[in-house]
Amino acid sequence: MSSIKVIRADITTLAVDAIVNAANNSLLGGGGVDGAIHTAAGPGLLDECRKIGGCLTGEARITGGHKLPARHVIHTVGPIWRGGHNGEPELLASCYRQCFLLADQNNLKSIAFPAISCGAYGFPPNKACKIAMAETVAFLSKTDTLQQVIFACIDNTVETELQKLLPALSD
Ligand code: ADP
Repeated sequence: MSSIKVIRADITTLAVDAIVNAANNSLLGGGGVDGAIHTAAGPGLLDECRKIGGCLTGEARITGGHKLPARHVIHTVGPIWRGGHNGEPELLASCYRQCFLLADQNNLKSIAFPAISCGAYGFPPNKACKIAMAETVAFLSKTDTLQQVIFACIDNTVETELQKLLPALSD
């Protein structure tokens, strides 16, 4: 049985198989959740990211968790919102799909996501949360490996949007 949870939490505190980082193309750290993850993980994470050499928008890469309680970090680069007609929804969906693919390939049982693109990248939370939830439900319906998906929110709007989408799952 798989489950989806929406919780109020700093993602860096979660002891899951992987936390997802809303990274930028350089994978060399930044503000928001990216900065928090690098600070908590320590310099070993930056060293490992440097070796990857960047990541395209809509793609994802996996590293170790270093000093984090999570075993792995999956770094994905969400789209910057430019009005919604520049492939933003498709690119955001691709982020979630690629994270799930990496989770599957690495036999992960639990994963925690932040609200990718909903901070500095300006994606409207209501639209982003629908995409996040739709991709999660679609993936969980076809995996035997992943058991728990957590959405860790520090933002009230995001938390409310995701919570609103949860009851529809049991209809
Ligand atoms: P992006 O550049 O993809 O928009 P941000 O890091 O600016 O990424 O924001 C993405 C989301 O992550 C926002 O909803 C923000 O409130 C949230 N966030 C920031 N720090 C944390 C954290 N430590 N744990 C969980 N969510 C966080």
